[in-house]
Amino acid sequence: MDDGKRKGKAVVVGGSIAGISCAHALIKAGWEVVVIEKSSGPPTGSPTGAGLGLDPLSQKLIESWLGHPNLLHTSTLPLSIDQNQSTDGENNMSQTLTRDENYNFRAAHWSDLHSLLYNALLPTDIFLWGHLYLTFCIGNDKSKVRVKSQVLATGEIVEIVGDLLIAADGCLSSIRRNFLPELKLRYSGYIAYRGVLDFSDDEHSEAITGIRRAYPELGKCLYFNLACRTHSVLFELLKKKFNWIWYVNQPEPRLQGNSVTMKVSSEMIKKMHEDAEKVWDSEFVRIIKETKEPFVNVIYDCDPLQQLVWDNVVLVGEAAHPITPHGSRSTNMAILDAAVLGKCLDKWGVENLRLALGEFQTIRLPVISEQVLHSRKMGQIKQGLVLPNGKAFDPKMVSPEECLDLQMKNMPFFGEIPSILE
Ligand SMILES: Cc1cc2nc3c(=O)[nH]c(=O)nc-3n(C[C@H](O)[C@H](O)[C@H](O)COP(=O)(O)OP(=O)(O)OC[C@H]3O[C@@H](n4cnc5c(N)ncnc54)[C@H](O)[C@@H]3O)c2cc1C
Repeated sequence: MDDGKRKGKAVVVGGSIAGISCAHALIKAGWEVVVIEKSSGPPTGSPTGAGLGLDPLSQKLIESWLGHPNLLHTSTLPLSIDQNQSTDGENNMSQTLTRDENYNFRAAHWSDLHSLLYNALLPTDIFLWGHLYLTFCIGNDKSKVRVKSQVLATGEIVEIVGDLLIAADGCLSSIRRNFLPELKLRYSGYIAYRGVLDFSDDEHSEAITGIRRAYPELGKCLYFNLACRTHSVLFELLKKKFNWIWYVNQPEPRLQGNSVTMKVSSEMIKKMHEDAEKVWDSEFVRIIKETKEPFVNVIYDCDPLQQLVWDNVVLVGEAAHPITPHGSRSTNMAILDAAVLGKCLDKWGVENLRLALGEFQTIRLPVISEQVLHSRKMGQIKQGLVLPNGKAFDPKMVSPEECLDLQMKNMPFFGEIPSILE
């Protein structure tokens, strides 16, 4: 886009899904972009991250950024069914509670999605890997923002000046802390054991044939298993992988460093395996046991923020809306934040940055606020925690009407496309 208008320049802090999506959306809007990321380099096919679900709108947006209509499709598997079932591990039985055959998501591995988006960025040298963001300051006339980062390999301090600072630095955002120093994340009451089992070496093993027998729609179904005060998730990823998650109620653990993801000691793994045998069917337990390097996500969210924009600083992704994972929202919200931001900047131009950011906030704030609270409620229901009405969900005692609450399609604004994107 070159219509003689001044090109805006954005400094994006954080190069995960929110940051890289912003890079695409802003470049499309004719902006210059620099991304500051503390990790030393892009994931190189390593087993970074795990599985995530992409909704139809995210799929469309990603396709528009990749410029290849089939690339996303061939890098993901369908998740066309959303199924909740109650599980009785003792008797190795399960019973379907709800089934939605129009789910229309696709399953991606985090590192595959990241690589797709990264490799489609031109030029990729807009990414400053191994740069730790330190501080920012806004000029007196509020037209420019100066961002300082440190090159981790050399210790050198670098300053970049832009029109806009985009905080895509995750749920523990240090940029957000400048504006909301008192804000604390809310511990959900549970952690998630997670893992990806790579069975490419042995797809005919007993464990794999067993799990396919017990869960015959792997490859297109998002399975939720509900037991007493706990639940688990299972779906298949491309390249012969199964993604599983098991949520366990417990007191808040102490975080290791500045991350909500934790490594699991061999003692914890042993205990997890023993506990799994008491709750889940034998096929699922086997998948858990055969997974190398499971990890833990400590589950947090945060009451919805009142604003996302301060002068020429805007929060996106998890920095703007830490959320529990029960509605498969986080990645989808990050992608939509980026797309809406790009459109607002394109519509108003850098000369009217305040109006652009104001419109972004007006579009996104009501949506993300409701989605964060709904996702919180879904987690409380599925974990059998006491709900505001004083009751706790029990999959063995539930009525058919109550079961309907479990479906992903009940998420507020599910399937809605903001008019600015149409
Ligand atoms: C390595 C990794 C793997 C993940 N795997 C999965 C997964 O498998 N499934 C899933 O559903 N979600 C996963 N997530 C989370 C998922 O990407 C996010 O929840 C969601 O997409 C929103 O992303 P985000 O970009 O807002 O935040 P995040 O993904 O948390 O990214 C924040 C980014 O900011 C960078 N950052 C933070 N502080 C600084 C600083 N001071 N200087 C420079 N950079 C900084 C971090 O290194 C990180 O790359 C993963 C995230 C990461 C970082």
